Amino acid sequence: MAFPFEVPGPAFRERQVRSWVFQRFARTFDEMTDLPRGVREELAARYPALVPAPVALTDADEGETRKAVFPGSYEAVAMRYPDRRTVCISSQAGCGLGCTFCATGQMGLLRNLSPWEIVSQVLWAGRVFGERPTHVVLMGMGEPLANYDAVMEAVRTIHDEVGISARKITVSTVGLVPQIDRLASEPFPVTLAVSLHAPDDETRDALVPINRRWPVAECIAAAARFRRAHGRRVTIEYVMIDEVNDRPWQARSLAELLAGTDLHVNLIPLNPTPGFGVPASPRVGEFARALRRGKVNVTVRDTRGRDIDAACGQLAVETVGA
Ligand code: SAH
Ligand code: SF4
Repeated sequence: MAFPFEVPGPAFRERQVRSWVFQRFARTFDEMTDLPRGVREELAARYPALVPAPVALTDADEGETRKAVFPGSYEAVAMRYPDRRTVCISSQAGCGLGCTFCATGQMGLLRNLSPWEIVSQVLWAGRVFGERPTHVVLMGMGEPLANYDAVMEAVRTIHDEVGISARKITVSTVGLVPQIDRLASEPFPVTLAVSLHAPDDETRDALVPINRRWPVAECIAAAARFRRAHGRRVTIEYVMIDEVNDRPWQARSLAELLAGTDLHVNLIPLNPTPGFGVPASPRVGEFARALRRGKVNVTVRDTRGRDIDAACGQLAVETVGA
């Protein structure tokens, strides 16, 4: 259980503290006004930080998007929409998989986050929203399935204690096939997204180095197995990069690969990073239409947070250890 505090006294005290932390998103023990002052002081002395406090905050989209940088160089983004409150959280500081178009990938892996560091990002967002987030996406820094045990412990806590249903917790993976199968065997059916980005191994090799280990066909097969195991929608993420993977033949080829799999495609216009350009929007539309003609379900993702480097793939902390 990702709860690193020992609460002295009778069992109901711990329940009180948990409720302040997970339901009311308290940031200090001092806020827990129904606890005796002595208990609050004792806890505050023993645990100087209740939840990690951001070292920097940035807002965008007229305050509807907020990015936090946490000590130790990882980030979370809280996004308020008319009908949902989504927090995008990190599973690692940096990432070791080196996808060439991803700012986080260029940082390399600094370290794995602990379960509590992962859960705390959701609690931070709860405080920002003033209420429980409705959706959690593990699409911030890092590869969640490369920090499997910590991520699963965090996910269980987010589910059990914060009360967010497993279906509304999305794990996005670059395509670590054995771990996708392991995830499929968990009793805990989170939503899965697999980052494909190309229908052909030549293009994918150049974008996603781990493709040499688990190529396109294996990733799609693993996504389809997960889909069959859970009956839940599984998304193939496809970041559209100008003149790299946005060509009509690639749309046709992707449609052929996905025929009969019931996998859903989410097209993500690239958030520009050095050396890679975003396709003109008619091109994204054309790609989507070609997939639809091939009977593939497609959505196009919005680009929240782009102007504060808070959009997908732009997370990279400049002030390491701030
Ligand atoms: N490591 C996991 C999850 C974090 S990345 C993964 O790769 O899936 C979350 C999503 O952001 C992935 O689909 C990733 O491909 C995408 N992404 C990375 N760089 C991006 C960029 N520059 N623009 C848009 N999306 C990007
Ligand atoms: Fe890591 Fe995902 Fe970025 Fe690839 S896209 S470097 S797996 S965070």
